[in-house]
Amino acid sequence: MTVRFAASDTIGAFQRPEVTQRNVIARISDAINEAPLAMPPGVTCRADRIRTFAVYRFAMPWDVAESSIRRDGPQGLILTIRRRDRSSQSITQAPPQESTGSDGVPSHRKQWDLDVIVLDPGHGGIDGGAEGVNGALEKNIVLAIGKRLRDLIKQHLPGTRVVMTRDDDRFIELYRRGQIANEAGGKLFISIHCNSMPTKPHPARGAETYILRPGRNADAARVAARENASVRFERSQDRYKGLDNDQLIVATMAQRSFVRLSELFADAMQREVTKTTPLTDRGVSQAGFFVLVGASMPNILFETAFLSNPADAAYISSEAGQIATATGMLQAIKRYARTYRSLLQK
Ligand SMILES: [Zn+2]
Repeated sequence: MTVRFAASDTIGAFQRPEVTQRNVIARISDAINEAPLAMPPGVTCRADRIRTFAVYRFAMPWDVAESSIRRDGPQGLILTIRRRDRSSQSITQAPPQESTGSDGVPSHRKQWDLDVIVLDPGHGGIDGGAEGVNGALEKNIVLAIGKRLRDLIKQHLPGTRVVMTRDDDRFIELYRRGQIANEAGGKLFISIHCNSMPTKPHPARGAETYILRPGRNADAARVAARENASVRFERSQDRYKGLDNDQLIVATMAQRSFVRLSELFADAMQREVTKTTPLTDRGVSQAGFFVLVGASMPNILFETAFLSNPADAAYISSEAGQIATATGMLQAIKRYARTYRSLLQK
């Protein structure tokens, strides 16, 4: 079926629709009007508006094979949702890949396979991120770790494609990072950062992983505020206005189809990185990170180590520390892939 979105003004960004079994989620920014969409019988659509974009959730009476979105003039978009044809269930599936396995998983569920992983080294260019007690900049450290991890994935998971939101020293706007991930059809989004305290040197140390949820404690809110501060380098900060706690709840709801997988991966990150490195385990927390809001796939933000702590800063700035951290992240990806395959088989 097709649905046409008509706006009263030029439509800005839109994301690749997210498909889970019988549901399709489309996110469209800017000028979408509020008029109810005409739905065929049996199809329901719920729309939630967040200041700068609208989230449309379609529930279909049948399994969805694929969904795509294209422009139809400057003020229109056409969303196509294709029904799965039972006689050709493999129509949209990638060829079976050794690394992600194809063992006995019903083909209509293979859409969850980890064929594309998106790595997002934070900051870049004019945005240096946190500065270490040793003078090292977060943007350089996270890029180095991202490249190491990319190479490790290529080597150890040859069937998985790696997309990086940046692979050089450039600034990428926060909303754009999620868009890159969605356009690439990412199945996992990993934003890589370094932690820091406002006063340096500081005894706080260790690795922690965040999932997107309205913050509940001051510590997590501080980390989110520091990472979200990257928007000060962006041309238009309006798109994040109003993305306060209430609207984050809506944004988090838009991710509920994969929040469980985000939690699983966050848990794997903490377990594995604290095995391959001497970094202490600070656990999994939740907070409202702008960079995670738009990613239509399981996603986490990883704070490798504290640049405000002398031992952490020295470790994470070193080649050995970066290799060990990337190795732990690779192990986390493998652990996650195993877990979710076993979930699919249930
Ligand atoms: Zn950062």
